[in-house]
Amino acid sequence: MRQAGRVVAEMHAVIREALVPGVTTADLDLLARGVLDRRGATSNFLGYGGFPAVICASVNNEVIHGIPGSRMLNEGDIVGIDCGAIVDGWHGDAAFTAGVGTISVEARRLIETTEEALAAAIAEMRAGRRVGDVSHAIERIADAAGYGLADGYGGHGIGRAMHESPDVPCRGEPGKGPLLDVGVVLAIEPMLIGGGQDDTVELDDGWTVITPDGSLAAHCEHTVAVTEGGPEVLTRPG
Ligand code: MG
Ligand code: MG
Repeated sequence: MRQAGRVVAEMHAVIREALVPGVTTADLDLLARGVLDRRGATSNFLGYGGFPAVICASVNNEVIHGIPGSRMLNEGDIVGIDCGAIVDGWHGDAAFTAGVGTISVEARRLIETTEEALAAAIAEMRAGRRVGDVSHAIERIADAAGYGLADGYGGHGIGRAMHESPDVPCRGEPGKGPLLDVGVVLAIEPMLIGGGQDDTVELDDGWTVITPDGSLAAHCEHTVAVTEGGPEVLTRPG
């Protein structure tokens, strides 16, 4: 899983470099495919429920599951990139949101808070804690900042399949839910909504989830293992 995680981290790095005005989301998908090919890895996104690409690219008020295409990114846009990789049958899955060129103070704060929520959730990935502790860490940070959390979406167990039990909701009660032990690996993914509401709408394409009021959304994700020594983020560069 460490190897799969490193491939995902490399896909992220290559895409981050390419986030300039004028690039299309299909260009970014192509770059990610190049990394998978070079590393001998395969995609767990391509063909998943019929999904046509190896990344999800969600722009501005798109929360998650945006389909790459001819859409050109403009100065000031924010884009959430979610992708994964399979190496030797093991899965990695991670996402980040970043700005294109100079972005608004409001957009910057939303992205930074989402990263802060992920970091707080990762810190709970210790033997003896529960999934509710992980979820609550996300909720605590989002609530304190006045942001919403995409209702009905969240993280998941991951291993030999991309989506395994348990679900890791973006809201939860401390001390509740499945117990974490050494060897548990979760994909943790806060999805914060700038307008403060939790509700979202899925577009007719059957994938793209948006904020109905047009407010910005940010999503980030890491695949994280519970180890003897505490949390280990697997989707960071090796
Ligand atoms: Mg993901
Ligand atoms: Mg995921």
